[in-house]
Amino acid sequence: MLKPLYDDPLTEPIWEAAVDGRVLLHRCDACGVVRVYPRPFCIGCQSSAVRFVPSEGSGVVYAKTEVYLPTRADGAAGHAVLLVELDEGVRILAKADGGAAWRTGEAVRVAYEMGLDGDPVLTAHRPSASLA
Ligand SMILES: [Zn+2]
Repeated sequence: MLKPLYDDPLTEPIWEAAVDGRVLLHRCDACGVVRVYPRPFCIGCQSSAVRFVPSEGSGVVYAKTEVYLPTRADGAAGHAVLLVELDEGVRILAKADGGAAWRTGEAVRVAYEMGLDGDPVLTAHRPSASLA
């Protein structure tokens, strides 16, 4: 698994929040655009007035795919990966909880959970499921 870049000052707040289960997005205060990936300045208007904002973690399934091979030697095969369109208007990938029976347009909530290797994994749940 690709390790998060904890020592990258630009992404460090994302991983610190992820350990607590929170999802951070990056917002430009000059033009209001929200993005998933942080940058030192807004790529839309070139303003340096950018900052992290918390995501509510709610959205809908935009697309899904199923992974039939284990991603780890000791992992289970067969899980879904969702492209989630968050209410903030950005799309982010998340591992689907609860198998592959997800439909596009279905409501979803995402939060970081600790993976088997101790790294946070963005995980999607149905809104009725309780988050860890
Ligand atoms: Zn901007």
